[in-house]
Amino acid sequence: MNDTRQNGRTAHRLTRRTLIQGLGAASVAAATPRILRAQNKSQVIVIGAGLSGLGAALLLQDAGLDVQVIEGRGRIGGRVQSYRNIPGAPEAGGTAFGPGYARLVDAANRHGVELIDITPIVPYFFSRELVLDNEFISAQDWPTHAKNPFPDAAKKIMPWAYLPMTVGPNNPLRTPEAWLEPANADLDISLHAYLRQAGMSDATIRVAYDANPSWGSSSHDVSALMALSAWFFTGMQRRLAAGGKIMGYTAKGGNQAIPEGMAGALKHEVLLNRTVVGIRSGTSGAEVHCADGTVYRADRVICSVPCSVLKRIRIEPMLTGRQAIAVNTLRSQVINQVHIVPKKPFWEADGLNPNMFTNGLAGSLFAEHKGDRPEDITSLTCWIRGHYAQWMDQVDERDAVAAVIAEIERLRPAAKGQLEVIEYKSWYRDPFAAGDWAVWQPGQITAFGTQVANSHGRIHFCGEHTAVSNRGMEGALESGDRVALEVLSAVG
Ligand SMILES: Cc1cc2nc3c(=O)[nH]c(=O)nc-3n(C[C@H](O)[C@H](O)[C@H](O)COP(=O)(O)OP(=O)(O)OC[C@H]3O[C@@H](n4cnc5c(N)ncnc54)[C@H](O)[C@@H]3O)c2cc1C
Repeated sequence: MNDTRQNGRTAHRLTRRTLIQGLGAASVAAATPRILRAQNKSQVIVIGAGLSGLGAALLLQDAGLDVQVIEGRGRIGGRVQSYRNIPGAPEAGGTAFGPGYARLVDAANRHGVELIDITPIVPYFFSRELVLDNEFISAQDWPTHAKNPFPDAAKKIMPWAYLPMTVGPNNPLRTPEAWLEPANADLDISLHAYLRQAGMSDATIRVAYDANPSWGSSSHDVSALMALSAWFFTGMQRRLAAGGKIMGYTAKGGNQAIPEGMAGALKHEVLLNRTVVGIRSGTSGAEVHCADGTVYRADRVICSVPCSVLKRIRIEPMLTGRQAIAVNTLRSQVINQVHIVPKKPFWEADGLNPNMFTNGLAGSLFAEHKGDRPEDITSLTCWIRGHYAQWMDQVDERDAVAAVIAEIERLRPAAKGQLEVIEYKSWYRDPFAAGDWAVWQPGQITAFGTQVANSHGRIHFCGEHTAVSNRGMEGALESGDRVALEVLSAVG
């Protein structure tokens, strides 16, 4: 395969290197890193060993800078987390990615992480039992069912596919950056208002979006601009999907292997279990203060933590204006997962698909096909979003999990006593994430979409929430590229 056919990956790498050289990074590297380290000082400190922080750290290291990554958790990867204690190593975070994720695929290749083509298991994912108000509705019955609120021409579409199939092709955004352009500010209204304007009924929106919302607790508290830009991104990914032959990848041993591989290429080991509580930017340097009292000094600090966590970190001098509002109000998606190993294949007993899309507490239940053969089911993951996830985050964790299991057993009596819970993940309750991906509420993109990533003295910001053209894991890496170049131009 030649360079161009690899989705421009090599071209992209050359572009970054050329830019780094152009910024005169070699002169920066002429400093004396060994002396700096003896003083607990680096040229650059990166806060966070997620994809964005690691991507930035590696680029700066390539440019000859002395970089130290500090991480609050006891592991690498941030919101990419693989449960290796469960057969098949299912993902708690970043789940899958397409061949169009050029930076992520490149990172895996560079750091010796084997990718698994998930094309053979994708059809299993799209096949689900539909359960509305406790009633199982087959795909055959759905088009004529009384609960189907869709217009006649679209009655055959299952609820989970309705918005991508109907809104996707009419997406008014034409470029990856369009969501930030002032010309589209009139779309920074609630997704609900946008869909109503597009002629959808309340009942349609409830079934097609509010039952299991990807952003916000319902269509009322997410900006239509955000949803449209995410649909644009997934559409673009589909077009980039290697001529349609490869629908997606995961990494062997779990996606966490990718950030782990990246961390392994750093000259200085990531410092784990260092919770940052303060960052100070001064005239001659910056300081990073950790909860254990340690202080690290650097010329520049890159902070990769999401706003939902950043708002708890003291920054001196304080952030001001729209950026301060952004950090204090940009929330992250509430999402919970229950990871289950079934003792018996209860779906064989009741003859139904193990996967379910419900509008109740059981949310979406998916069988993980991560065994040797595509048909092998290695575990089940229950995804709970929206108001149900918010309720779970308010009650005792054991009660929350027990309620979900009871709900699955009520809907599927054959599952009674067969569900062994191995892990429960509330992303909101994770102190280093306080939620999943950033959710832009109506009006927020116009208010501070272009200010959230402004540098502040010697402090620079990256992370998925600062990405412009990409989303999720690829967006995180895009932001790492941008911030590395920003730091190089500041120090060069
Ligand atoms: C359930 C779920 C499913 C997802 N599915 C997909 C998917 O299928 N495809 C996709 O592309 N993306 C997906 N994503 C999104 C993707 O995982 C994230 O966008 C991406 O990993 C974010 O990377 P990041 O570097 O911006 O942030 P993080 O990975 O959050 O990195 C920030 C780092 O900072 C650390 N940190 C936080 N606070 C502190 C502190 N005070 N002191 C020190 N360190 C701190 C954190 O521990 C973390 O390691 C999913 C995410 C979740 C949670």
